[in-house]
Amino acid sequence: MSKPMILVVEDEPAIADTIQYAVEAEGFECLRVATGAEVAELLARQPVSLVVLDIGLPDMSGIEVCRQLRQRHAVPVIFLTARAAEVDRVVGLELGADDYVTKPFSPRELAARIKAVLRRTSRPAAGSAATAAFQVDEERCQISYFGKPLALSKYEYRLLSVLLKHPGRVYSRDQLMDQAWESPEASLDRTVDAHIKNIRAKLRVVQPDLDPIATHRGMGYSLKEGL
Ligand code: CA
Repeated sequence: MSKPMILVVEDEPAIADTIQYAVEAEGFECLRVATGAEVAELLARQPVSLVVLDIGLPDMSGIEVCRQLRQRHAVPVIFLTARAAEVDRVVGLELGADDYVTKPFSPRELAARIKAVLRRTSRPAAGSAATAAFQVDEERCQISYFGKPLALSKYEYRLLSVLLKHPGRVYSRDQLMDQAWESPEASLDRTVDAHIKNIRAKLRVVQPDLDPIATHRGMGYSLKEGL
């Protein structure tokens, strides 16, 4: 199993050094950037397990960086903030932050938070699919998204479960029907579209800036990779 990769976004080298040391001491790998602009570019070519994101960056606010990366990635984010007053703004679901640490912090505290978030977001239970964003509880027929249980109908649950089994794989409407319906021949193709539309609406309530389901014109749907 490869080591979790932690991306540290921090412009103060001494603080970035401290974080890198703490992260590597836990056996994680560490990448560092000092500006918000570098984040999107880096994430496009290098998947990471978690982002430690300073709010006070030279080129843009960490909050803006988080908002932008949330449009494409569901990677967990821990904010670093110098002011406790900022905390209320960042720990909202609307921003999708998983936790925050106020400066000055102890390296041990930060490492403990990172481990806790990684545990929470990548918990692959036996017999159930899980990504950072989604947890599937097959026994209860329940899917959670960013920790929020979704109220899905039977077919919405089944469709999303199929997509979650192989992120990135494109399923045609026929394949989705075959796998999610008991008697596919009795339903119309468009039913899949209608259910996907409902699923998207329910996901949007939890994460307005993220659409984890990709539409492939003339082909079908997939769950986006790296979520
Ligand atoms: Ca800073």
